[in-house]
Amino acid sequence: MADQAKKQSPATITAQALGWVDDATRSVTPPLYPSTTFERNPDLSYHDGRCYTRADNPTYDQASAVLSALEGGTETRLFSSGMAAAVAVLHALNPGDHVVAPKVMYWALRSFMLDSGVRAGLTFDFVDNGDTDDWAQHIVAGKTKMVWLETPANPDWQISDISAVADIAHAAGAVVVVDNTVATPLLTRPIDFGADIVMHSATKYLNGHSDVLAGSLTTAKDSEFWQWVCKQHASGGAVLGVFETWLLLRGMRTLSIRVERASANAMAIAQHFENHPDIEQIQYPGLQSHVGHDIAKKQMTGGFGGMLSIRVKGGEKRAVALHNHCKLFKRATSLGGVESLIEHRASVEGPTSPVPSDLLRLSVGIENGKDLIDDIENALKSSK
Ligand code: PLP
Repeated sequence: MADQAKKQSPATITAQALGWVDDATRSVTPPLYPSTTFERNPDLSYHDGRCYTRADNPTYDQASAVLSALEGGTETRLFSSGMAAAVAVLHALNPGDHVVAPKVMYWALRSFMLDSGVRAGLTFDFVDNGDTDDWAQHIVAGKTKMVWLETPANPDWQISDISAVADIAHAAGAVVVVDNTVATPLLTRPIDFGADIVMHSATKYLNGHSDVLAGSLTTAKDSEFWQWVCKQHASGGAVLGVFETWLLLRGMRTLSIRVERASANAMAIAQHFENHPDIEQIQYPGLQSHVGHDIAKKQMTGGFGGMLSIRVKGGEKRAVALHNHCKLFKRATSLGGVESLIEHRASVEGPTSPVPSDLLRLSVGIENGKDLIDDIENALKSSK
């Protein structure tokens, strides 16, 4: 199956969920195994090797295999949230280890690094995501143990050059982890560019329906570091529930058409508003004007994703008014669902946020693109 999956395109892998058919019933969607425990054989072995549900449940198998196939990795572990997945990676480090991460990235994880990470004895440097020289200056051979990338990164959608940074990190002896939540493996496969581990908030595009909290880690290959991550997964216990796993697999079956449509809608919105008299700037890696466009073209295929940010003329007051006047875009956090969302990021992130106060983050859904453009046009008029 693994060899066959290597030849399949992502659309086929996801639609068929690798084509698994249940042995017992021939059902084409998988059964759920809510059992927390598995009967032991008289000789003390376990049928199938499964003992206890915390990491051993068969419901995980298909969803994990689909993600490994999509990312081109060898093993995937599912977590109770994206944060739980990220924290498992940080926990696999030793006190004193040095981590380099982007200055602008998913806010809650950066905050976690700075409080709990520092408390656990880790040290951090934060660099300009799109500036490979900045990464090179801060990755120190023998000292840096992990390089954390997020590309495109929340919420300015800066792009980092995964292969260039991975080369620098590997030469220094560091593990490269990429948060691929926004691009999804449909648009970027970080392992192809040298990443060691790929992380997802599967809450977002992978599930796609704003109704499951989940996370994942996929490794390029087995390693001592990965074994520590697996220990965090199975012993730390932040595993995904079986019902959520089942829903996640169902969500992933439509991933390719959702990402395609969201990317097309985001591009249409970005192009429509790029030179609009009421808009200061559109931040979208698909636009030539975006600082990371050239790298994005190199490492993203099939689109530039469904996330973009709008900086509105008229400052914070106008930005908040605009988001209040939107009817289709719902005022809510999160991203990657079928429905479009709009968010004033600076007020979510608080006073230490690097995000400008006139910025609105859009998670573009799969609605009709013209309806979404009209919604923003109407809101711009009403917010004058
Ligand atoms: N990474 C990115 C890019 C995110 O946007 C998020 C959540 O918004 C996370 C990680 C954390 O994921 P979760 O909310 O599933 O814990």
